[in-house]
Amino acid sequence: MARAMLASTAELKGLGPEPLSREFNAAYLASKARGRQVAIKNLLMDQRIVAGIGNIYAAEILFRAGVRPTRRAGRVSRAEIEKIAQSTPLILRAAIGRSGTTFRSYRDSRGEPGRFAERLRVYGREGKPCYTCSTPIKNVVVGGRASFYCPKCQR
Ligand SMILES: [Zn+2]
Repeated sequence: MARAMLASTAELKGLGPEPLSREFNAAYLASKARGRQVAIKNLLMDQRIVAGIGNIYAAEILFRAGVRPTRRAGRVSRAEIEKIAQSTPLILRAAIGRSGTTFRSYRDSRGEPGRFAERLRVYGREGKPCYTCSTPIKNVVVGGRASFYCPKCQR
């Protein structure tokens, strides 16, 4: 009953699939990115596309995928979309594991990464050397939100 009610609430709100569900995959993400002018990071944070990816996780997912947050979604290659789709559960599961709480925690703790903070590669690290290449991490505003990235590792 509760589960059915949750599903219908998600439907009513027009929420996209959960990022750890089967519905969220490269084919789905590619279909949503196609032709879109919006920055790829904003697409990932759009609750109608995929429900529950906050600012911190979007930054970390894009770093792992090697894709710059400012790229237009429609210009991100299929291979890069695949990397984003693969990176999403890895980042979220790492976050969930660190917090030691439930599946919902990454959503509830948006803006507050808790112990996952120790694992952040780019978020909050402006000016600090990239762990991979030592290039200083940059911070740009995308969709009104701070967006951290490595200018060398992310194209
Ligand atoms: Zn780097």
